[in-house]
Amino acid sequence: MKNHFTGRFINQYQDFFSMINKETYLIPISSCLKTFGYCRSTIIDFQLSELEFIPNSLFELMIKHKYWKIQDIIDYYGKDHEKNLIEYFEFLYVNRYAYFGEKYETELFPDFSMEWDFPALITNAIVDIADFDKFEYSKLIESLDEIHCFHLQLRFLKEIRSKDKIVELVKLVYEASFHTLSLYLPFDVFEDYEKVSDFIKEYPKIDNITVFSSPENRKVILDEYFAFINFTVNSFDPESTCGYVDTKFFSLSVNHFTESQLHNTCLNRKICIDSEGYIKNCPSMQHHYGHITETTLAEAIDKQGFKDCWFIKKDDIDVCQDCEFRHICTDCRAFIKDPNNIYSQPAKCGYNPYIAKWQNEEGWISVEQWRKENPEWEKQAIELRELHKKYIAINE
Ligand code: SF4
Ligand code: SF4
Repeated sequence: MKNHFTGRFINQYQDFFSMINKETYLIPISSCLKTFGYCRSTIIDFQLSELEFIPNSLFELMIKHKYWKIQDIIDYYGKDHEKNLIEYFEFLYVNRYAYFGEKYETELFPDFSMEWDFPALITNAIVDIADFDKFEYSKLIESLDEIHCFHLQLRFLKEIRSKDKIVELVKLVYEASFHTLSLYLPFDVFEDYEKVSDFIKEYPKIDNITVFSSPENRKVILDEYFAFINFTVNSFDPESTCGYVDTKFFSLSVNHFTESQLHNTCLNRKICIDSEGYIKNCPSMQHHYGHITETTLAEAIDKQGFKDCWFIKKDDIDVCQDCEFRHICTDCRAFIKDPNNIYSQPAKCGYNPYIAKWQNEEGWISVEQWRKENPEWEKQAIELRELHKKYIAINE
């Protein structure tokens, strides 16, 4: 991520106007998507996969005055603001977040569609395996293949040591139509760092492996295979493995950004089979929708309630709805701050969007404390949410 917006281009004022004149029109680049937050906004250039923070006033300017002539924008705000406005225009120009062109060119930059869909009912599945003899896992993989599951995660729990059986299943996945596979394995399966890398090279559908109970923490990136391996000394514990919110898990992909507008970014189109064979939406949730020995996956998905969390989007969630990261962040509904409120903030998030600080940063205070100290906060938050809705509506 780049640094905060600093206005560092002010000294290039003359250069900017040697290339652009005040009769040109502000044309925001539609592949650079913005998200409003309580304190600041983000703008993401999806072609470069880069995120930058911008002031909310710049976000507002880009919405309100899109396709306006520069001179008209300056007239709208008045001469006193001209210097600041030029600074904004120059920032947009230098970073290629906007184009300044002729009036006819405004029609050549269509809005970015926020529509999201996927040509399969299930995009991702998690299967927890503790005992190979308990169920016919090859059959389960065939069933997931039949519903065209795109990504599969196999989590081999600590009791599993049989390398041959693991390889057998991976081979099956490799030959089926899954696009990618990720694995959780105990270190004992390979007992060697190199052998884990070799495994990915042999089965390049594997895009990541977490090797728990390793002798040391180590990260291996296999650039050529677009894959990585995380060796961790920790033992496997689903409760501590899942649901963490951290900048390193943010996704700067158009797919994630658009899906998040109307869907949950973890649970949408997800299916999980826990180690006892129960079919769930999330492996850490208690509620299940049948057992794999009695219910088909399609029947479970069709049961009432299975899809409820699919449509809990970040804009519905307390705190997240005011956060500038909400369309790149993954949501967790299993570990939430208030178990009695399904719309409460993920419990494992240490970000306070009202002060734009992470828990490990100086000056951080909790959301609860901040809200207590700022009883008027909600009025401003509602205004900002409305403005963001207007922006989405413009783009629809
Ligand atoms: S909802 Fe939370 S616990 Fe469940 S799969 Fe998603 S991140 Fe993991
Ligand atoms: S407040 Fe919500 S959207 Fe923001 S980083 Fe935390 S979990 Fe993600």
